[in-house]
Amino acid sequence: MRTDDENKRIYVRQSWLGDLMICPQRANLALTMPMFRSGSDATAIGTGVHSAIEWALGGHEDHTAINTDEMIEVAQTQVASELEKPVKLTRISDKPETIPLAVGAMITGWVDEIAPQVEWGGKIEHRFQYPTGHLAVNGYEIWMEGTMDYITPNGVIWDWKTASRAYNESEKQKKAHQPTVYCAAAVSTGLAEGPEQIFRFGVMVRQQSPKPQVVQVTRTRAHYDFLHRQAKAAVDQAVISSGQRDWFMNDQHVLCSSTWCDYWSICKGSHIP
Ligand code: SF4
Repeated sequence: MRTDDENKRIYVRQSWLGDLMICPQRANLALTMPMFRSGSDATAIGTGVHSAIEWALGGHEDHTAINTDEMIEVAQTQVASELEKPVKLTRISDKPETIPLAVGAMITGWVDEIAPQVEWGGKIEHRFQYPTGHLAVNGYEIWMEGTMDYITPNGVIWDWKTASRAYNESEKQKKAHQPTVYCAAAVSTGLAEGPEQIFRFGVMVRQQSPKPQVVQVTRTRAHYDFLHRQAKAAVDQAVISSGQRDWFMNDQHVLCSSTWCDYWSICKGSHIP
């Protein structure tokens, strides 16, 4: 969440809403202690694979023009460069020799199974902002913002995921809020006709053999309305609680750990290492 005092707007990203749903304190510290945010080896791998997909989509006529070996090389270089940055190490780095194999398998899966389902010629890394129509408790307009990995000329949104395991499609259809934010953005900004809108996760499971997956989610006006109500409630609470050191601390979530919470050392970990 960020505030634009000049235009009296508050911008919300889906990742901040996601933090809030995991643990309100995590969302609070993301605003007040941004210097503690850091990536992990998992996110470094994801960033490198994303760069290779951008290279493929931006520099080729269609998926048949991609040389898989060349794309794997691009991905390996990008991943290696991301891993040189200071990142948190997870179990992935216990066996660093498996990372290049996993990257190769993910790219092979993307080229063979996912890319043929992608309509070429769309917008890569498309940044968006749109108004939710709600005012926060302080009178500021609430806007959503973010970056879509890819939106096709026909308005289908794709998001590339490198994941430790396959996605559950019905769970994503029921609960995932990223597709709701991005679909609402596409409709609001005229990139899709809507209001019903398609969002696809192009999932590459991080393992030694290719395991690609296309997970399709649909969103409607009802989803957008609930999302915007959620965003207003979240922003109002944030505005009211602004300046308080602590918001509610949910230490029951699986991500409340030294590995998966950037703020562990100044939160639970400062009491119970
Ligand atoms: S350490 Fe746990 S309780 Fe504290 S911010 Fe992180 S997830 Fe929340």
